[in-house]
Amino acid sequence: MIRRLLTFAVLAGLLVAATVWLADRPGSVTLRWEGWRVDTTVPVLVLAMLALMIAVNLLLRLAGALVGGPGRFLAGRRAKRTQAGYRALSDGMAALAAGDSRQARKLATRADRLLADSSLTALLSAQVHSGADAERHYQRLAERPETAVLGLKGLTEIAIKQGDKAKALELAARAWSLGGTTDGLAATLFDLQAGAGQWIEADATLAEAKRRKLLSGADLLHRQALVALARADQAERDGNAAAALDFAQAAHRADPILVPAAVKAAAALHRAGKTRKAESVLAATWEALAHPELIEAALTLAPMESPLDRVKRVEKLVRLNPDSACGHAALAEVALAAKLWGQARTHLEKAVELRPSAGLYILLARLEREEKGDETAARDWLVKAAGAGAEPAWTCQVCAKPADSWAIACPACGAVDSLVWR
Ligand SMILES: [Zn+2]
Repeated sequence: MIRRLLTFAVLAGLLVAATVWLADRPGSVTLRWEGWRVDTTVPVLVLAMLALMIAVNLLLRLAGALVGGPGRFLAGRRAKRTQAGYRALSDGMAALAAGDSRQARKLATRADRLLADSSLTALLSAQVHSGADAERHYQRLAERPETAVLGLKGLTEIAIKQGDKAKALELAARAWSLGGTTDGLAATLFDLQAGAGQWIEADATLAEAKRRKLLSGADLLHRQALVALARADQAERDGNAAAALDFAQAAHRADPILVPAAVKAAAALHRAGKTRKAESVLAATWEALAHPELIEAALTLAPMESPLDRVKRVEKLVRLNPDSACGHAALAEVALAAKLWGQARTHLEKAVELRPSAGLYILLARLEREEKGDETAARDWLVKAAGAGAEPAWTCQVCAKPADSWAIACPACGAVDSLVWR
């Protein structure tokens, strides 16, 4: 700013000095050309030359504007097109976020047409299209380093939908190896590795996910429990009882309400002669979550016990969490075996109140027959049993099929960690 002011002051000073110098020296000039004759003074001639220079300059600019016009007009149109493309792209993203997939698809096509750079529209296009179209768009994202993780994750999901788990696992592992903190990728890769029985790799994925802060808390611990449980199974098959015990206990510690982990840890402890510890593992889980398999496991700790001792064993466990249907049902069953009729009846009535089932009606029929020899009452209960709902069982949340026993992957559809008790 100061420099410009100084330049201006110097130029103005020079101009004034030159004008004064010229005015002080009025000499004359005569021009003759083609029969024309002009007589003038030097200052007027200098002014005339200046005026001519300015006029030529203006003319040149005007000519430049006329010649460059069409190019600028086209550039303006391109800019407008790009602007409209960006608007379609952002509106399409908004429509997608709002769940309006038809509008999003329309805007994605428009953005694709208006914007020359297809890498900009690939993400929106991949999400609004399906099948081969989506795959093509995700492929495009996967090719650029900046969007490779996103593209590979999209391709993984498509492979899962197509049932190609081997391809999905390969794609997810590639995306995972590129780093990044994409949501859901850790869980997807873990499930694929677990489904393929790659427990060491699945364990490494969990450790890395913890480091990248993608999995934490109960979710991480539950998955770690699944890995430990699977490795306990493997150690058992390999005949390595010590390792099986370690892994089973680790699974129980990681997720104390995972019933199969408690059952496996108790069995392994019992085999190792640590029956007291096995009892306390089952008690800890029962206290948080009443489940019939815990009672079953507690009874197998002492298979030769008398019926009365079995009643005592179950009572001791159920007392920690006394109001569940399965607790009352278990107490009724052992009381019935010990011929404690009154106790059996009380617990059966409570269990039926909480959750009626065919199994309970069959126990009631047994009670009528064994206590009183009342065949009519027994038959009535059996009729009721025939019309009662299904017993609770491990059921897959994905394919809805029941499984005979708990497993990490659903025996029917292979979904990992999908079995729930209901
Ligand atoms: Zn299933």
